[in-house]
Amino acid sequence: MPESEIQSCLTTYYCCPKEFLPEFTAAPHSGAPGYFHLGPDTTCYGHLSTQTPAPTTDQPLPDATKDIAIKDNKVQLPFNPSEILTSLRHETYMGPDARSGTQSLTAKIYYAIRPFLPVSARKHLQKLRLRNWDKRPFPRWPVDFSADNLHDQLLLISLRATGAERLPFIWFWPDGKSACAMMSHDVETKTGRDFCPTLMDLDDSRGIKGSFTVIPEERYEVPASYIDSIHARGHEVAVHDLNHDGHLYDNRPQFLERVARINDYGRKFSAQGFRAAVLYRNQDWFDQLDFAYDMSVPNVAHLDPQRGGCCTVMPYFIGDILEIPVTDIQDYSLFNILNDYSIEIWKRQTALILARHGLMSFIIHPDYIIEPRARATFEALLDHLAQLRDKENVWTALPREINQWWRERAAMKLVNKGSAWQIEGQGSERARIAWASELDGRLSLEICHPDRSAAEGRA
Ligand SMILES: [Zn+2]
Repeated sequence: MPESEIQSCLTTYYCCPKEFLPEFTAAPHSGAPGYFHLGPDTTCYGHLSTQTPAPTTDQPLPDATKDIAIKDNKVQLPFNPSEILTSLRHETYMGPDARSGTQSLTAKIYYAIRPFLPVSARKHLQKLRLRNWDKRPFPRWPVDFSADNLHDQLLLISLRATGAERLPFIWFWPDGKSACAMMSHDVETKTGRDFCPTLMDLDDSRGIKGSFTVIPEERYEVPASYIDSIHARGHEVAVHDLNHDGHLYDNRPQFLERVARINDYGRKFSAQGFRAAVLYRNQDWFDQLDFAYDMSVPNVAHLDPQRGGCCTVMPYFIGDILEIPVTDIQDYSLFNILNDYSIEIWKRQTALILARHGLMSFIIHPDYIIEPRARATFEALLDHLAQLRDKENVWTALPREINQWWRERAAMKLVNKGSAWQIEGQGSERARIAWASELDGRLSLEICHPDRSAAEGRA
C-alpha cells in the first residue's frame, strides 16, 4: 500500500520505516478551522470534526485527545495532521495579513514613523505594542514544541495501534549527538562589519564557528576580501536581505525584482543560506529563493515585529528549501526590550531544547556586542554552548552542515537485513539507529550505541 499523507508526516520527521505505522484516516470535517489542544502542551490550528475549535487562543480550547479512535491497526483522527503541521510551521494560523513585511496596520504605521521619533517616544510605543507579551498563551514562551509534540503523539498512537513494543528510526543528528547548536551573526552596519574579525576571534576561542549574514546593498561596502576572510577562517557567509529596508515582502513585483538580485549575491558570495531583515517572512514565496536553506522563521515571535512562530525546534522543508528556525531569543530583544544582560533565558531555552534533542539557534549581532557589558554576555553564552558541546554531547554546527546532514538523513533508508536493521545512503556512516517506545504513558526515544547496534538492532 502506498504511504498515506499522514504516514509521511511521521516518516519525514523520524525517518522510520512505514511498515511500523498503522493505517491512519482523518475524519471528514466541516466548519471553520480554529485552535484546539492535543493534551496540555500541544496547540493545533486547523479543522476538527468532533468539536468546535476556538477562533482565538485566549479562551479555553477543546482537547481532541479523547476523540482519537484506535482499533485493529487502524487510527481514526478527528483532524488532519498534515494540515495542522503546515498551519504551524508555515504560520498560516496567523492569517494572510501577517504574511507581508509588517503585520498589522498599527505595526505598519509604527515602523513607517519610527525613524522620525525621538528614542523616548520609540521606547514608549514599543512598550505599548509589547504589553503583556509574556502572557500570550500561544505560541508558548520561551519555546513552543507543538509541532514536535504532535509528531511524538502520533508515534505513540502508532505503537499502541500496532501493538509493537518499539519502533526503529534514524536519530535526528549525526554521530549520535544529543542535540544541535548553531550560531549566526547578522552584520547590520559598517561598524558591525569592521568588528567581524574580533567576533571570529571570540567564536574561535571557544571552538565555535558562525554564519555571518551580510547585507549586500546600501548599508556598507562588501569587498571580496571581506567575504574571503570569513570563508578562509572556516566560518560561513549567508545573504541578509538585500538592503535591509524592511520592505522585502511588501508586494510581489518588488519582491521578484529584489529576489533576483539576492540570488545573484548568493552566488557571488558562495552563500547557501538566506535570512530576511527583521525576520520578515512569507513562506508562500520561499520557492523564489535560490538558496539551500532559509533562517528567517522564529520558533516563537512574541518579541519580533512580525508575530507568529513555527512551533518546532527541528529543521523542516518548505518546498525545496530547508528552514532552519531561530529557536532562541535574539540579543537585541534580550538587551533592548527586556533589559537583561544575563544568559538565564538562553539557559532556560537551551535546557528545554536539549531535553527534546532539538536545534538551538542564535542570532548575535556584531553591532550590538561591541560595548563591554553586551560582549561579556555574549562570551558567557559562548562558554555555555562550549559546555553543552563538551558535557552534553551537543553538535555545534554551521547551518550549511546542518543543511547537508538534514538532506542526507531525509534520503537515507532504514532497511531490515534479516536479523538487524541497517541505515543505507550517503552519509549513513554518521547516522545512528534509534528506538521509540512507550514508557509511563509517554514516548521514549533511545539511541542505539554503535558497538551494540548488531544486538540491539534486532526487530
Ligand atoms: Zn538584520
